[in-house]
Amino acid sequence: MEVTADVVVIGFGAAGACAAVEAATAGASVVVLDRFTGGGATALSGGVVYAGGGTRQQVEAGVTDSVDAMYSYLRHEVRDAVSPATLRRFCEDSAGMLAWLEDQGVPFDARVSPFKTSYPTDDYYLYLSGSEDAWPDPAPRGHRTRAKGTSGKAFFTRLAEATRRAGVRVLPQTRAMELVLEDGRVTGVRCRTLTGFPRVLHAMLSRAGAKPWLYYPPLGKKLFGLAARLERFGRPLVVTAGQGVIIAAGGFIADRALVHEHAPAHRGGLALGTPGDDGGGIRLGVAAGGKTARMDKISVWRFVTPPSALQRGVFVDSAGQRFGDATRYGAANGSEIVERGGKAWLLIDDEILQIARAQVRTQTAPFQRWQVRYLLGRGLVTAPTIEEVARKAGIAAPDPFGTPPYSLINVSVRAGFGYPCPMLTLGGLVVDEDTGQVQGVPGLYAAGRSAVGVCSESYVSGLALADCVFSGRRAGHHVVKEARC
Ligand SMILES: Cc1cc2nc3c(=O)[nH]c(=O)nc-3n(C[C@H](O)[C@H](O)[C@H](O)COP(=O)(O)OP(=O)(O)OC[C@H]3O[C@@H](n4cnc5c(N)ncnc54)[C@H](O)[C@@H]3O)c2cc1C
Repeated sequence: MEVTADVVVIGFGAAGACAAVEAATAGASVVVLDRFTGGGATALSGGVVYAGGGTRQQVEAGVTDSVDAMYSYLRHEVRDAVSPATLRRFCEDSAGMLAWLEDQGVPFDARVSPFKTSYPTDDYYLYLSGSEDAWPDPAPRGHRTRAKGTSGKAFFTRLAEATRRAGVRVLPQTRAMELVLEDGRVTGVRCRTLTGFPRVLHAMLSRAGAKPWLYYPPLGKKLFGLAARLERFGRPLVVTAGQGVIIAAGGFIADRALVHEHAPAHRGGLALGTPGDDGGGIRLGVAAGGKTARMDKISVWRFVTPPSALQRGVFVDSAGQRFGDATRYGAANGSEIVERGGKAWLLIDDEILQIARAQVRTQTAPFQRWQVRYLLGRGLVTAPTIEEVARKAGIAAPDPFGTPPYSLINVSVRAGFGYPCPMLTLGGLVVDEDTGQVQGVPGLYAAGRSAVGVCSESYVSGLALADCVFSGRRAGHHVVKEARC
């Protein structure tokens, strides 16, 4: 079986959808392949997009922001993941990128969260999603897609609709196995595609397995294990690409061996993604001659908010030594905890505990209540003296602060049920930052978590999706432009 298109996109998540829309808008015929039914980690995500420099929502909310302020903050987070020129372009294009998403049908909103949180409740859609409040003139740049619950599904559904409107052909349950190379140029993809009853069953199992895979892995693994067995019924299919191939197949957090090889200290976390994040897309690029970078960069999410009062606590390690800054973004704290061997506690006094308890009702979304039950319940020990609370927690006594009784909350990587530590890979294929072409491989492009991008050094909420939109659009635009040169 053979299918022909100008552009072939591997992976139908945020990066793949944006690449496909952009290439189709430039006049190319586009085919998108997905091993499952599409959506990937994007559809499971919070749908938060990091954007600033004066977005329509920021202006409506009366927030002061500028390209320079956004650049100055992100320079500090992004460091050398991309060049200063690329980061500046990302910031300059940011308000326009959000408007482009709105044009595709993705709704945003100007209601600003009045409290610090890791994810706003359904009443708020604009918030300080990183560590901006530790920065001069903090501007909220976390733009949550307007939808109830976690917004990633709405974000992806709107992008998928835009893809179809643009005339893109989507081939679900079609797994890219190998790239076709002719004279060193990538000209197509060899796949296996499911048809008939195995396809129907595979779709049911993978859809049913997506959330359990994330929130109750034993069940998720079982359902995806059955789906994977059906893949042997797949038929060979070659999709020929007249202009180029874009790899947008996610990261590699589902391949524990690969994570261990590159980042051995990152053990015991929750794999934040789908079984599609098995590094398969990155391997296709490497087999074609591409290079990888920042494969050791893993974002580790250790949120202590909501409730917001907990950010007034102090982190201590098992020696009772203070470290870090609980007001910073959860991934910054997560990295420090991993560096300290994965063990950490949050020390709070009675005043903080009482305020935190009072904030639960107004500051938490339903899916955050598990975490709150852990933070203010199972994960916490309290005692009238600092020595006693430290003995209960099994650590050396830290210096006291505030008013007794004191509480210690176990925020270690393996803290326990109800408080998993999500981890996300940030590295991938090295691309030309102007075009998205995989360096040294003509006809091959990469985007999103399959590639090195703006969030590849450190992640703050919204930066992964923002990078998927930025890098996906870049690849979709340039694959067509360069084929015409
Ligand atoms: C619970 C959760 C919450 C998150 N919240 C946010 C947030 O609010 N903001 C933010 O910025 N980031 C967030 N993230 C991270 C973000 O969602 C991801 O980094 C991003 O969606 C990755 O997009 P992508 O397009 O690169 O990959 P994906 O969305 O994962 O899409 C890749 C697709 O490729 C397919 N695929 C894989 N291999 C193959 C193959 N060989 N052949 C064909 N298809 C293949 C997969 O099936 C998948 O559909 C969150 C992640 C999770 C899991």
